[in-house]
Amino acid sequence: MNVVIYRVPSELSLLPSSKCPNCDKPIKPYHNIPIAGWLMLRGKCANCKERIAWRYPAVELLTALVFVLVYWQVGLSVFLPVALVFSAAIIALVFIDAEHMILPNVITYPMFVIALIVRIVLPLLPQRYIFSDMKIVPIIYLHTNGYPDWVVSLAGALFGALVGGGSLWLVGAIWKALRGVEAMGLGDVKLLLGIGALLGWQLTLLTIFLGAFTGALAGIAVVLRQKDRDLQTQIPFGIFLGIGSIVSMLFGEKLISWYLSQF
Ligand SMILES: [Zn+2]
Repeated sequence: MNVVIYRVPSELSLLPSSKCPNCDKPIKPYHNIPIAGWLMLRGKCANCKERIAWRYPAVELLTALVFVLVYWQVGLSVFLPVALVFSAAIIALVFIDAEHMILPNVITYPMFVIALIVRIVLPLLPQRYIFSDMKIVPIIYLHTNGYPDWVVSLAGALFGALVGGGSLWLVGAIWKALRGVEAMGLGDVKLLLGIGALLGWQLTLLTIFLGAFTGALAGIAVVLRQKDRDLQTQIPFGIFLGIGSIVSMLFGEKLISWYLSQF
């Protein structure tokens, strides 16, 4: 995870083994063990004693916690490996967006393609995995019309990508027409293609709602802390969309049915 977060934005190869960014000395395999390696080294390079950024053990700990959450909610199902890989990719994107304000295509494009493959393959497995959007309108109509599960699933994925990427693109286009400034990057739209394809339209709209809501709160907090308030301040929206997508994947169906039960 840290290798991806550190090297992808700088377009470095993922293959060479890790070395200290300060003294270039290769890192011993046992010092590369998540969290334990950092503790063993007491947060300093074994060779030059340069401090190792707290981000490294933080990413490792956070990934472990999210993986436990995913297992707790998804359980032993064919969707478990998909949910773990998706969460890992999102965590990488969140940290990259926080530091560089970009969502690299080398992560968002494969995410979309892999999501489409997953949506075709999982319903074909003996367990016949059913995605949540296959049980609701409009995708359920394909189901009742007798189309095979994988076709229904793929249609749901394409509709989800259209709803997710399309609505975000539309908001950006309207904002640009009204204010003449770029409201969000195309990276956010590309990220929503993958989220939309994997989670379906309903959980994707929830993702956008959660992302916009928490992003707006964070934006207000940032502006309030500034001395000379600048309402044009940019915040990396990918962070909030990413967190929203994991919450939505794990708790979305429960959140939606709780919300609907309030009426
Ligand atoms: Zn060093």
